[in-house]
Amino acid sequence: MTIAIAGAGLLGRLLAFQLARAGHTVHVFDPAAHAEARGAAGWTAAGMLSPVAELECADENVFRLGLRTMALWPQLIAQLDVPVECAFDGSLLLAHRGDEGSAKRVIDLLAAKAGGIDASASLAPQLLAAERLRQLEPSVRGPAHAWLLPHEGRIHTVQAMQALAASAPRVQWHWNSSVESAAPGVVRVQGAEQRFTHVFDVRGTGARPQLPVRGVRGEIFWLQAPGLALHRPLRLLHPRYRVYLVPRAPDLVVVGASEIESEDRSPVSVRSTVELLAAAHSVIPELAEARIVHSESNLRPALPDNLPRLETQPGLTRINGLFRHGWLIAPALVEQALQEMETR
Ligand SMILES: Cc1cc2nc3c(=O)[nH]c(=O)nc-3n(C[C@H](O)[C@H](O)[C@H](O)COP(=O)(O)OP(=O)(O)OC[C@H]3O[C@@H](n4cnc5c(N)ncnc54)[C@H](O)[C@@H]3O)c2cc1C
Repeated sequence: MTIAIAGAGLLGRLLAFQLARAGHTVHVFDPAAHAEARGAAGWTAAGMLSPVAELECADENVFRLGLRTMALWPQLIAQLDVPVECAFDGSLLLAHRGDEGSAKRVIDLLAAKAGGIDASASLAPQLLAAERLRQLEPSVRGPAHAWLLPHEGRIHTVQAMQALAASAPRVQWHWNSSVESAAPGVVRVQGAEQRFTHVFDVRGTGARPQLPVRGVRGEIFWLQAPGLALHRPLRLLHPRYRVYLVPRAPDLVVVGASEIESEDRSPVSVRSTVELLAAAHSVIPELAEARIVHSESNLRPALPDNLPRLETQPGLTRINGLFRHGWLIAPALVEQALQEMETR
């Protein structure tokens, strides 16, 4: 088949990789100037793979897609031509003394939702004694309470975005090419219609007006902390906001993320800087001497219900609304989309 993909973000790259490997002729269109231009939210993401922790704001479908994706990422990474850092050592939920009330509410919610979906697998948060926390993460000093989520992981999103594009054979990448509309078998690019056997519309926040998608602003920081021992993602359960810290090779800690109902793409604000970095420092005091080497803001594509949507009809597939869990669910959604395309 000759296939058009509108959008070279996370979904677009995954689709291009899979479809090109399956022998199809693939054209990808994106307004970005080149393959490394950082317009897509996929570049900015911290790369937490958190099926259980995301249940705080997600449903059973996202949870199941997340569990499936946890099995798919290692298989995908094994097929890439360049290495991608990815680990499945679990994650920790943390709370400071005094915040145990609100933290317990989140823990109970996650336990109830995960248990209600899959009581057989021990997915619920496991309370950690202080000694065990010290063994697992010696640099965590501030929080008094900790829970382990053993089935969670992380992926280096920048490496994965690069590797997916570099490992997709014979794909024709059309940069500086904004898709104005996508319909069954047709994309309209800069005023001209182009015909294909099948079209994938994965334009994220660019899919308006065909989808009622909005952007939700998120800000992150990269801290360079040579010598810091951090083995897995941490989430601080703060009564006012969520803060996470994700280790990334070679010596970085990604701290994120704000969640603001705005499509403002301007640089990170003073308020987010103060809140996120103060919270990160309260978890790992050693970060006081880390260096802020990068900060970034971007827009998470979200639909009105904040849930993902996959629509297939002959000649056209739309996938959107991956919101804050794109890296957690995209491989499973792409798997589902390709199966649906073949059966239509
Ligand atoms: C700060 C932040 C932190 C995050 N952290 C995590 C995390 O830890 N874990 C997790 O699972 N997820 C996380 N996410 C969410 C994840 O990044 C997104 O869900 C995911 O990137 C969505 O993938 P997508 O392909 O739909 O959209 P995108 O990755 O945004 O790609 C959309 C693409 O469409 C292109 N496009 C737009 N308009 C057009 C047009 N007219 N024509 C053609 N192409 C177009 C864009 O240029 C872009 O390349 C985070 C996001 C942010 C912003």
